[in-house]
Amino acid sequence: MTTQMKDWTRVQQDTHVRSIERTCRGPLLVDPEIERVNFDRWYVLEELRDVDGVGGLLGELYENAKQLAAPGFKLGAVPALVVDPNDAETWEYLRRLVFPMIRLRGDKVGKPCGYDQNQIVVAHPYDGETRQVPCPDCDTLFVWTSPVFY
Ligand SMILES: [Zn+2]
Repeated sequence: MTTQMKDWTRVQQDTHVRSIERTCRGPLLVDPEIERVNFDRWYVLEELRDVDGVGGLLGELYENAKQLAAPGFKLGAVPALVVDPNDAETWEYLRRLVFPMIRLRGDKVGKPCGYDQNQIVVAHPYDGETRQVPCPDCDTLFVWTSPVFY
C-alpha cells in the first residue's frame, strides 16, 4: 500500500484557503426576537405543509426587507410559489428562499460588508479548531473551522 502524502508549504496552504471566496455579508438587520418568532412561524407552516402561509410570510419578510434596503437597491418581487406541498424538494426550495429573509443580512438589501474573511483565516493556525472573530469592518462575528492539511 502506498500513501500519497503532500507536503504543503504555508504559502500553498494559504493559496488553497484563498481559492474559496469568503466575504462578510454584513450584520444581521433584524432583532433576534423577531428572527425567533419568524422561525417559529416557518416551522408551523412547514409542519402543516401550508404553502399559502409561506407565501404570506415571504411577502411580509420582503416588505420588511424593503424598509431596510439601501437607497436605490431593488429587492425584486416576492417569488411566485408554484409548488407541490407534498414534495420534499419543495420544502428545501422554500427553506432556501425564506431562511435568508428571516436571518436578514446586509447583503440581501444592498448593504454588503464585503470584507475578505480569508484574511482572518490565513492569520490563524491550520489546526481544525473552530474560532470566532469579529469582522474588522462591521463587527459581525465570523465563525469558521480552520482547515487541516495532510
Ligand atoms: Zn463585515
